[in-house]
Amino acid sequence: MTIIEARGVELAFGRTPALRGADLAVRAGEILAVMGPSGSGKSTLLHCLAGILVPQAGEIHFDGRRVDTLGENGRSALRRDRFGFVFQFGQLVPELTAEENVALPLLLAGTRREPALRAARAWFERLGLDGLERRRSGELSGGQAQRVALARGLVARPRVLFADEPTGSLDSLTGEQVMDLLVGSARAEGTTVVVVTHEARVAAYADREVIVRDGKVTSLVHP
Ligand code: ADP
Ligand code: ADP
Repeated sequence: MTIIEARGVELAFGRTPALRGADLAVRAGEILAVMGPSGSGKSTLLHCLAGILVPQAGEIHFDGRRVDTLGENGRSALRRDRFGFVFQFGQLVPELTAEENVALPLLLAGTRREPALRAARAWFERLGLDGLERRRSGELSGGQAQRVALARGLVARPRVLFADEPTGSLDSLTGEQVMDLLVGSARAEGTTVVVVTHEARVAAYADREVIVRDGKVTSLVHP
């Protein structure tokens, strides 16, 4: 079953085309790697699927409903209620503690502070972050910060986790630990994952790979 889909998506930044008729159907529960050369349109495609960017032509569907025709409020509610995000540089809020960062999606969705922090703390043990709950991002290693970002991406139990180069800022061993935890947690929760990467060792975790080239999606089998 398809959970999220791009149909004929086109998007240009000024005169720079980023997507030129991208088609992609993501199956519910799968871990999908989106590969391709730098500048080919991978991040732009992820942002369109996730309702962050709106295509200039084509359609985005999530769970049988159009996403690209929703207004800013509808897309922001959809992101908050259904999607989780992990980016290359964890992008933790430096003023907040690690547990507050993890709790953030719940707080933004209206959960009260104590239950939100309790739900956040449960992820620390799960991701090997015990004892780091009160640290601020400046006091965490790169791998620890990325695991905190992963916890934040999963805490609201999203239907789809969007990960854009989640190991891009990490050395290979630390990157593998983050991918092990990301894939392990997603499988345990039944979360669909769309992971943009240019690294084959990250794509090796996926059930399926597609390649973006010149703003179009091709599968490995039928290039
Ligand atoms: P990838 O993720 O594969 O590296 P991107 O989706 O980031 O590719 O970029 C696709 C194309 O769009 C590139 O030519 C890039 O320079 C351009 N681009 C991406 N984001 C912007 C932006 N915010 N403003 C202008 N051009 C952009
Ligand atoms: P709006 O009227 O604000 O544009 P909707 O009334 O369509 O948005 O959406 C209301 C709620 O439904 C939001 O909480 C949003 O998260 C959720 N939602 C929106 N689109 C979808 C979708 N395609 N699949 C599932 N839930 C959605």
